[in-house]
Amino acid sequence: MSINVEPLRKILGLECKKGYVDSAVIGGLDRFLRNWAGPVIESITNPQLLNRFHELHLVNSNYTSLSKPQRQQWINDVLDLLAEIEGIAAEKGKAKLIPVAGKPSSVVRRRNTVVQQSIDSPITVISGISSSLATKFNRLGVKTIRDLLYFFPRRHLDYSETKPISQLSEGEEPTIMANVWQAQLTMLGGRRGTEAIVGDETGNVRVVWFNQPYLAKKLHTNTRIVLSGRVSLFKGQYVFESPEWELVEDKELIHTGRLVPLYPLTQGLRPRQVRKLMKGVVDQWAWQAEDFLPGEVKRHCNLLELSQAITQAHYPENGAAKDKARVRLAFDELFLLQLGVLSKKRDWQESQPGSSFSAETPVLDTFLKSLPFELTAAQQKVLKELLADLEQPRPMSRLLQGEVGSGKTVVATAALLVAAANGYQGAFMAPTEILAEQHFATVGEFLSRVGHQEGEGYLYSYSGLLSRPITVALLIGDINQARKRELRQRVRAGDVDIVIGTHALIQKDVEFHRLGLAVVDEQHRFGVTQRSALRQKGFNPHVLVMTATPIPRTLALTLYGDLDLSVIDQLPPGRQAVKTKWLKPQQRDSGYAFLRRQVAEGRQAFIICPLVEESEVIQAKAAIAEYERLSQEVFPDLRLGLLHGRMAAADKNKVMRRFRSGELDILVSTPVVEVGIDVPNATVMLVESADRFGLSQLHQFRGRVGRGQEQSYCMLLAQNPSEVGRERLDIIEKIQDGFQLAEEDLKLRGPGEFFGTRQSGLPDLRMAKLSDVALLELARREAIGLFQIDPRLEKPEHHPLAKELARVWQQGDAEWS
Ligand code: ADP
Ligand code: MG
Repeated sequence: MSINVEPLRKILGLECKKGYVDSAVIGGLDRFLRNWAGPVIESITNPQLLNRFHELHLVNSNYTSLSKPQRQQWINDVLDLLAEIEGIAAEKGKAKLIPVAGKPSSVVRRRNTVVQQSIDSPITVISGISSSLATKFNRLGVKTIRDLLYFFPRRHLDYSETKPISQLSEGEEPTIMANVWQAQLTMLGGRRGTEAIVGDETGNVRVVWFNQPYLAKKLHTNTRIVLSGRVSLFKGQYVFESPEWELVEDKELIHTGRLVPLYPLTQGLRPRQVRKLMKGVVDQWAWQAEDFLPGEVKRHCNLLELSQAITQAHYPENGAAKDKARVRLAFDELFLLQLGVLSKKRDWQESQPGSSFSAETPVLDTFLKSLPFELTAAQQKVLKELLADLEQPRPMSRLLQGEVGSGKTVVATAALLVAAANGYQGAFMAPTEILAEQHFATVGEFLSRVGHQEGEGYLYSYSGLLSRPITVALLIGDINQARKRELRQRVRAGDVDIVIGTHALIQKDVEFHRLGLAVVDEQHRFGVTQRSALRQKGFNPHVLVMTATPIPRTLALTLYGDLDLSVIDQLPPGRQAVKTKWLKPQQRDSGYAFLRRQVAEGRQAFIICPLVEESEVIQAKAAIAEYERLSQEVFPDLRLGLLHGRMAAADKNKVMRRFRSGELDILVSTPVVEVGIDVPNATVMLVESADRFGLSQLHQFRGRVGRGQEQSYCMLLAQNPSEVGRERLDIIEKIQDGFQLAEEDLKLRGPGEFFGTRQSGLPDLRMAKLSDVALLELARREAIGLFQIDPRLEKPEHHPLAKELARVWQQGDAEWS
């Protein structure tokens, strides 16, 4: 059987990552499967696999109709099936590869050498792990014995219920303990398999194994055997189909009769092999894992010993033990995370003094008076909080949350001016170049209200604010090299007060003369480690992270455990709720007509192209096609512009400028407009395939309109939404409040998707879930408590903890640098 399951596995993996919204593959999973399954099914000869194939409806799947939990379950089942297909393929391959007699010589030699083994030794020191097997484990990120101990099963099969044969019933997955009466080779659907009759004191039952002819030889008459698996009814009689089996010997059961672990597998790792190996490793090594948690903490929180927890996480005695093990291991992750975050905060604030600014600068008054509006009470409150921080000698670490359109930019600009007035440079960083350009324009508009503006392109200076002009530069990728070099040179020389750009500003080779404040906009992944990167560049600036995505408490404590929080919880006056409507496909034309009427009244519109897939290239192509269709067939008389991620910065800039200045009626765009774009005269937005987007993203889109005084509208088109899609559209129609939407989003998508910890540079969470609020808060309390007693973990009893902390965080840091 040569079936390449990898493409499907990747797609399913992506689908999980993206939250089961059927966005992993163009055209949807169902269509992909229809094409994939045809040829595959022809090459499957194993009738049992064929059966599973049909049971899972891989040929005529209807993924779109499933609810989210159903989707999740279904994908898990398919992944299991893929692993099985591979397992069988590997088993067949192996029979050919390994010669009948003799072990690989390296194993023998290793036995004779005395190797200093520790839990951090590579897994090859374990007898039974050849270098080729080690390679397979490496692919799963498992390199050392410690990694193996922390290589936890995805889940457990519950085969703990033992039954007498007389009480079997169809569809259950019981365990029986029986005698083999006879076992023989048999032909099953054209393939060699094994068939056996086994019995206990209450009766007999037939067992078949497809594709495992070698079993016939193993199962001698009168062998005691344990079987766990599904019972089905065949011609009126019960039969076990390919159950897990195990001979009753003196050792513990590992495949049957208990909670049986299911490990994540990769090509060439077979479930039985991994289980057996893991049992050996756990038995031999778990007790050697040093328990780094202080006894005090363990007692407080009623936690298992580490070695016990590891053992029970793999081979639990029962469900309760498994849960206790998870709690201990999840606690470890969260506790270490909190300790790490706290010590980063301490380093951040103590190791180098920051610069304390004077906030009583005339520039602030001048600036605020020049604005065309008054700050809202919420903006004033937050500005005050910022200024108080800036006056401190320790650097500010503050997270500013504020609903879309609540006016964060102007507050940030005020803070940047204070830095400039104190003789420091400021960096203003956005997640995309388009947004950086927009900030550059916005800051320019604000400052030019005060006094004279001079300069061109990427560098302007503004007089009238300080005794000298304030210089603002835009530094982005697409500027030509010579110009960029010049700008960098000026930044380094201290000629530029405010530098606006993307996060590349701190990641790449921009050197500052005297960086005093870094503002990071619209970023929920600018975590602890990233902030440390700033400091490693030799600066200890005040840092302000701004986001319109309300962060649920658990996540805030995890990602931003070291930040103080400010919230702008009020929109500027006069804003009206954006009227949101989900249009049925047949209402598309009336949607276009509505948009046309708005344009006739002098308003502007966005049309967001469908989300095609990950690739920006394909997305751009689709947007171009849609743009052409719209300009030729639908709105030939209107002025349309196109914006997509593959355009050169100068072109993007030009389109944005034309749209902002009213030269364009409609901006057709890929989802790049998601963040930050501010054009108050735009009052209509039409989102294509709106069911494909997450709630928070839709809310961000919608935030692009309703920024001026006019009533604004958001129309959502969805061709054939899934159940989850419909649910989302219903919610977004009704709810305007971003915080509430974020909570709903979190519920629908699950936290892993909401913020990946991977990208944040934080240590991985394997056991802990972000829904473990209580455990997280417990871990945080304990971490704070410990920090008060021994902030640098210098006491001898805390040494193991200090070591573990360094180990865990080192991995996170490495990913960032
Ligand atoms: P966000 O918080 O989403 O980044 P912006 O800073 O882009 O929001 O502000 C949204 C719009 O509201 C901008 O056009 C800005 O000029 C305007 N704005 C900001 N503060 C006020 C205010 N206090 N009164 C009226 N309009 C304001
Ligand atoms: Mg913004």
